[in-house]
Amino acid sequence: MFELMEKDDFEEVIFFQDKKCGLKSIVAIHDTTLGPALGGTRIWNYKSEVEALKDVLNLAKAMTLKAAAAGLNFGGGKAVIIGDPKRVKSEVLLRSYGRFIQSLGGRFITGEDVGTTIEDVRIMKVETDYVTGVELDPSPFTAYGVFHGMRACLEHVFGDGSFEGIHVAVQGVGKVGSVLVKLLLENGAEVTFTDINPEKVEEFRKLGAEYVEPNRIYSVKCDIFSPCALGGVINDETIPKLRCKIVAGAANNQLENERHAEELAKREILYAPDFIINAGGLITVATEYVCRREGRSVDKKALLKEIEQIKARLMEIFKISEELLDTFGRQISTHKAAKMWAAERIEKLRYMRKVFVPGSKCL
Ligand code: NAD
Repeated sequence: MFELMEKDDFEEVIFFQDKKCGLKSIVAIHDTTLGPALGGTRIWNYKSEVEALKDVLNLAKAMTLKAAAAGLNFGGGKAVIIGDPKRVKSEVLLRSYGRFIQSLGGRFITGEDVGTTIEDVRIMKVETDYVTGVELDPSPFTAYGVFHGMRACLEHVFGDGSFEGIHVAVQGVGKVGSVLVKLLLENGAEVTFTDINPEKVEEFRKLGAEYVEPNRIYSVKCDIFSPCALGGVINDETIPKLRCKIVAGAANNQLENERHAEELAKREILYAPDFIINAGGLITVATEYVCRREGRSVDKKALLKEIEQIKARLMEIFKISEELLDTFGRQISTHKAAKMWAAERIEKLRYMRKVFVPGSKCL
């Protein structure tokens, strides 16, 4: 355990169980330099406890960078509940889990993720104050952020952020992809899409988007390929098929391996780092939490403005990736630049916070 925790400098890993309702949960708190750890609760039928542990550690670590890069005063954490969501979920299990979350006293704040819904989080909320994402659905806000992030990519590649005449290939028209496709069509883009759900296919064909089979989406000749379904889709098999100039989408962990960012750069394909471009939902749930604590409602206009900042953030990251050279004198990938940028914010603020302040403000 400690070897795994030390490797990526985890602060705390907590195991909760409640035999009566079948709860088996792991919470990983990676880094709280910037504030309480924020991350969703995933319910998944892991093959083993080790697999669950590795997943929660990976997910929590990514949340630290994502929150830091989004300019939020939150740290990184994540939780998993082991089991098939269709079978293990019950009112008692969700409330029992909520009580355990409450016992952490606000060091970890959670919300929905794969296998959990807003409804489930509302049930947890009966027992804990430390949940968010119960008032605003984050998905449309994630789509809005991806849309503005795409503008940054277009400006960088074509010198103009307009979608007129731009062809986007979208993989997955679920909660995020569906809103994104509508925004793209409204703004004059041509959209090709894929999904494995036949109902979605019909719906989006009717809106004027062109459908291709799931395995053909990579080779669509387009300006932007937008992964909005699964992780790991940028890999050795798919990269040679890509005929786009930009990869910019909502999916988490798009790169199968970090070196795939360099492979994209070699082919002169601009990659918008996923944890920067898809932060709209996280910004939304973080804002909702802060507003609730302060007893005010979310100012949606201000929230959208905040999410639009993703465009400027990406422009800055693209610039860093062009200007910074690695030890071999090569430009660093946009993915590496984004990680450095986020890590630098944490390190600078860690240093700033070294001064002892009696009763210092915290969330
Ligand atoms: P979702 O489950 O609502 O949508 C995914 C869609 O992809 C579904 O319509 C599904 O049928 C389709 N799909 C699945 N496998 C496919 C395949 N092989 N080929 C084509 N389509 C396929 O999920 P979502 O909430 O829209 O999230 C999409 C991605 O964005 C996920 O990777 C998620 O982790 C990430 N993300 C989501 C949010 C959010 O706010 N929802 C925030 C950040 C990141």
